[in-house]
Amino acid sequence: MDTTSLEEAFQRVTVVDENDDGLVTTTTYLKSKGTVTTAAVPGLASSNSAANRMKVPLQKLAAANSSKIISAKVTLASQAAHNRSSDDQTTHSHRRTLTDTAVYSIPLAPKAWHLGMFEIGKPLGKGKFGRVYLAKERSSGFVCALKVLHKSELQQGKVEKQVRREIEIQSHLAHPNILRLFGHFHDGKRIFLILEFAGKGELYKHLRREQRFPEWKAAQYIAQMAAALKYLHKKHVMHRDIKPENILVGIHGEIKISDFGWSVHAPNNRRNTMCGTLDYLPPEMLRGGGKDNFYSEKVDLWSLGVLTYEFLVGEAPFEDTQVMTQRKIARGEYTVPNFVSPEAKDLIKRLLVLDPEKRIALEDVERHPWIIKHCQKGERAFDRASGGKFRGSDERDS
Ligand code: ATP
Ligand code: MG
Repeated sequence: MDTTSLEEAFQRVTVVDENDDGLVTTTTYLKSKGTVTTAAVPGLASSNSAANRMKVPLQKLAAANSSKIISAKVTLASQAAHNRSSDDQTTHSHRRTLTDTAVYSIPLAPKAWHLGMFEIGKPLGKGKFGRVYLAKERSSGFVCALKVLHKSELQQGKVEKQVRREIEIQSHLAHPNILRLFGHFHDGKRIFLILEFAGKGELYKHLRREQRFPEWKAAQYIAQMAAALKYLHKKHVMHRDIKPENILVGIHGEIKISDFGWSVHAPNNRRNTMCGTLDYLPPEMLRGGGKDNFYSEKVDLWSLGVLTYEFLVGEAPFEDTQVMTQRKIARGEYTVPNFVSPEAKDLIKRLLVLDPEKRIALEDVERHPWIIKHCQKGERAFDRASGGKFRGSDERDS
């Protein structure tokens, strides 16, 4: 799809102030997020009638998507192949069928998108700046998530630059475990992001519901995270904001990293915005943004360690008051409960290493005994994405 002209238009219209300092006051973080319960579609007055019309249950929409995907598969295979860059993807490409194309394509992508092309469905959620709706592209029936951002709110929050980066980065990424951004468009007041629909919602909610994940599930999620991070790092993208709140779950249970708002952001600004979100912050980012403090993509490895811990324990390893959390992170002080297996403990230990250079490499995460134990060969990052069936936890753990 040709987004160049849109991108240009978008940049002309929306960029008013690129001063990052404003971020300090705009980012407050709440772990317990409210979900949108109203059926109203604020800001989408022209589409309200469409919202009322579309009462198709989610499962049906998902099924509709699947059939589209299958029919679109042949024509788009070369594109998918072209987009494939990681060795893992090549190795396991034969396993990737259904979501393969779901990840890489939106059928009949036009040169320019506009709101009238979409039927707007139920609200999926609300973030700090955006509201997200289930949507269907009318001509193809393709189901997606439409994120609506109000330009005035972005300006007030001084996050236009951040949003622009998020769009630039995410639109160039195509991986089964990274939420796809298919395109974007805007009108006088709003910016619309056409996102891949993650049918099973937020991983954070799954984790809170289940309290903690069984080891097999945590291992499979971490393997998918490692594959996604390997892909990102190969493209020289650091995510820098890995946490359960920024991970969505696809219809087949596969995880999708989202939220690239911080992915190329300056350390200093980010640090200031982290009030309340210190849990995942690596020690090297904690040390202030002095000129000498450079950090690398290895920050994501630390966060992967925190994530592994939280998946298995149900809470982050350094959770405490802000001051204490910072102190514990700086010292790498945490304890792993006894119910966590020695293999999992070992991986956590190799990720939560103060010296970024000494953290285990992503390739070695993928071949770590804990991952091997719980992920069958070839099943690691892509089996879920390809709709493959998993055995139950009881079978797996015995
Ligand atoms: P923040 O503003 O801190 O980034 P957020 O990530 O929750 O918060 P959004 O990205 O605007 O904000 O998304 C709001 C909510 O909508 C999400 O929490 C999620 O529940 C839902 N959502 C967003 N994108 C999708 C998607 N592609 N598929 C399914 N649900 C989604
Ligand atoms: Mg978000």
